[in-house]
This record gives sequence, structure tokens and C-alpha cells, in this order.
Amino acid sequence: MNLHTNLFIDGQWRPGSADARFDVVDPADLSTIADFAVATEQDCMAAVDAAATAQDAWAATAPRERGEVLRRAYDILTAEVEEFAGLMVRENGKSWTDALGEAHYAKEFFRWFAEEAVRVPGDYRLSPSGDKRIVVDRQPIGVSLLITPWNFPAAMATRKLAPALAAGCTTILKPAEETPLTAAYVVEVLRRAGVPDGVVNLVTPVPPGPAVHRMLDRPEVRKLSFTGSTEVGRALLHACADSVVSTSMELGGNAPLVVLPGADLDLTVEGALPAKMRNGGAACTAANRFYVHTSVHDEFVARMDAALAKVTVGPGTDRAHTLGALVSVAERDKVAALVETAIADGATLVRGGRAWSKGAFYDPTLLTDVTHGSAITMTEIFGPVTAVVRYDDVEDAIRMSNDTVHGLMAYVFGEEREAMAVARRLEAGMVAVNRGVVSDPAAPFGGVKQSGLGREGGFEGVLEFLEEKYIALTA
Ligand code: NAD
Repeated sequence: MNLHTNLFIDGQWRPGSADARFDVVDPADLSTIADFAVATEQDCMAAVDAAATAQDAWAATAPRERGEVLRRAYDILTAEVEEFAGLMVRENGKSWTDALGEAHYAKEFFRWFAEEAVRVPGDYRLSPSGDKRIVVDRQPIGVSLLITPWNFPAAMATRKLAPALAAGCTTILKPAEETPLTAAYVVEVLRRAGVPDGVVNLVTPVPPGPAVHRMLDRPEVRKLSFTGSTEVGRALLHACADSVVSTSMELGGNAPLVVLPGADLDLTVEGALPAKMRNGGAACTAANRFYVHTSVHDEFVARMDAALAKVTVGPGTDRAHTLGALVSVAERDKVAALVETAIADGATLVRGGRAWSKGAFYDPTLLTDVTHGSAITMTEIFGPVTAVVRYDDVEDAIRMSNDTVHGLMAYVFGEEREAMAVARRLEAGMVAVNRGVVSDPAAPFGGVKQSGLGREGGFEGVLEFLEEKYIALTA
């Protein structure tokens, strides 16, 4: 595999100006798989310069041509999908199924936005007085800083790069320190697909804060699209206020999964398993708290336990393993501490609860008798832990589901009309009804409350990188 381990600025792969490097670690065996260039503030300023210089020409490039670059990137990733997935297995600790699933999901954003590039809507209206015309034009917002997390290192990058490029914006991608290799792979694919110099840049400042703030201070940077924790997102919103930079924020979640009385338990467990276990639970959409009606509670727990018993844990390099490692030992220990606290708070450990001593693995875990309001129901677990709270009254399940500052994702399982009625009352940007996985490039992805601002994917995704301009005409 031809790994890129340097910065990408103005069409060139190059080391950082201070020549410093940081290690990229395989969380399955804690070996170092590469070292990656540290970007200095000077490198980050060079990336802003390159993006700013390329902006006008890229905005003026025909939408069809921009779309064709994205389509070629899709074709390259399709041909290389297994190699791409293999890299994520190593860098992120994913199981093979999760890595391959993400590789497919990630490349679909290139295809979707290749198609959206030529469908940017405008508007032409008659003023109420009848003697004037209102033209609403949509123009690229400008240089866009894209910051991504480690849990979906490919898809979070393509979900931002593709709409930004389709809209005619130039970009600076700043991936998580844990997963720069996957981001570099995506950037190299775009270079091979023919993206002009300066249109896509990649920087990895460590620590990220000071350099990101410097970039946001540059007047040429007009957009911040961030995916990550609510805590960092909040700090970046403050930073963006100073220079009134437009923001799209995809932040943390704390998804409830509600099992209603009368739910079809075959369908429920079939959906609940990926809702919880996709990406080892390290998904912003992961079901974090299970509210299960007392009439189906014991049967649901028994079936979920049986389903978790079939999960096989180990490195994704063995494709038979269905649960990989967490991204780091620190993340594994965070999950272990949450489980210990839950048990101390009165939860019953039905299965799992074991952190591996070698590698960042944590066994699939099932807790019952969890109390709503305890730490495990109020914290994004980000690991393979199913925490079940029993309830008697559906009104209580709705109240507990909404009792969080987050509002990204929610799941409801039950008879469809009843489930739809509950879905409408849940405070979340996305609600899955009798389904366990919702991510789809054609759908608007995003949260309410402290889970975010704006939407990615769907028809909406490209609009985040466009600004309306009103042109006033006479009749
Ligand atoms: P994080 O907030 O720690 O880091 C995200 C990114 O921000 C990384 O690139 C990191 O280097 C950068 N960063 C960290 N501190 C910064 C600072 N002070 N200034 C500028 N940049 C900074 O999140 P993470 O641990 O990488 O990812 C997990 C989080 O991401 C979870 O909360 C998860 O829910 C969230 N997430 C949300 C979505 C969504 O679509 N809503 C998708 C995936 C992940």
C-alpha cells in the first residue's frame, strides 16, 4: 500500500516546515504503522494562501467539470475499495465489515455530489408590486476549513469535501490526529481524479487548537464545517463568532432507542444490534440508552444477549471478527470506567464488561437495571455497551429520551403508527423507525439542540457551502 504521510499544500505532498512527525498507531496491537508530518502554523497559513489563490478559478469551473472530478474520485475508490478498507482496519481498529461498509459509504458521497454539482437551484421571482424582478443566485461561500473526527475517518472527510467541491469552494482538510492516513488517501484520490492545485489541501497541526484559530482568523476563510465532540464544537463556534465565519456543526449524540409494547422483537433485535454495534459503538448515531417497555423487557434482553454472544472480537485483519478495537487505549479505558460506574450505581452486568489487556479491545457488554440519569445514560459511551432502562409508561420513555442536551439520532421500534407518533415527539434531527442504520448520502444528516447546526448529505448538503445573492432587476 502506497501510504501518504505528509501534508498536501497547493498540489504538492510535502513534510511540515519544522520537520516534526507524530506516530500513527494500530489500536489492535498498539504497533506504530507510520509517522505523519506535523503542520506548523506557517504550513497552515500556506494552505490558506493556496486555497484562497485557487478559489476564483474553481468557482468559475463549469459545474459539470467539478462533478466529473468527483465522479472520477468515486470510480477510483470503487476500484480500490478493499485497499481503502484495509487501511482503516489498521489505522482505526475497525472490523473488516465496518471498514468495508465505511469505504462504500464514503465513496457514495463523491457520486452523490457529482450529481448534485449540476443541480444547484436558483430562483426568479416577481416582487409583490409587480414591477420588479428578484433573482436569487447561489454562489460558493469561499475557502472552507473542514475538520473531521477519527471514528469515520473516510466518510466524514468525503461528506464535507464532496459538497464543498461541488459548490465551487476550495478546501483545507484537517483530520483527527488518530487517523491522518485515511484522510491522506482520500486527498490523493482527489489529486488523481484531477482536482486542480490549491483546491484541496491537507494539514495536521498537533495540537490542533492554535493553528485552527489562526486559520479562522484569516479573512479568506469563510466556512468552518466541523464534525466532532460538542465540547470542541462549542469552542470553535466561539472562535468563529470573532470573524463571523459560517459554520456547519455535526456534534456529539446520545441516541435513545425506544422499544414500545407490542414491538416485533425479531425486527427490534435485528435493528438494535447494528444501531448499537456498528463501528463498535463508536458512532455519533449509536444507540446509547435503551428504553424497553416492561412487557417486552425480559424477552428483549434475552434475545439481545443471544445476539451479542455471537459477536466475535479481535483484529479486523481477520475478516471473521465482527467487533474490532476501539481507536485507542484511552478510549477503551473511558468505556470501562463508564461500565464500572454504572454497576456501582446499581446496574446488573448481564454480559461482557472486560477490557482486553492487549490492544484497545472491549468485549460486547449488556447492562440491565440501568437508571435513567446515571452517567452511562448521560454520556456518549462510544463503545460496545448496551445499557437497558426498563419503563412502564410510554410518556416516560419519551420524556427520558428527550432529557438530554443532545438531539442527533433516536430509534423507535413498535407497531408502525404508534412508532411514528412517538418519532414525531422525539427531539432529534434523525429518527429511525423499525430500522437500525440510517446513514445515506441522499438524506440530510444532522442534529438539533447541542448535536449540531446544519445538514450534510441530501439536497441540503451542498447548500451549506453556498450563499444566496439577491440581484434586483426592473420588470
Ligand atoms: P473531537 O472533538 O475530539 O475531535 C474532532 C476534531 O477536532 C479532530 O480533528 C481534532 O483534532 C479536532 N480538534 C480537537 N480539539 C480541537 C481544538 N481545540 N481546536 C480545533 N480542532 C480541534 O472528536 P473525536 O473524539 O475525534 O470524535 C468523536 C466525536 O465526534 C463524538 O462526540 C461523536 O459523536 C462526534 N461525531 C459526530 C458526528 C456527526 O455527524 N454528528 C459524526 C462523527 C462523530
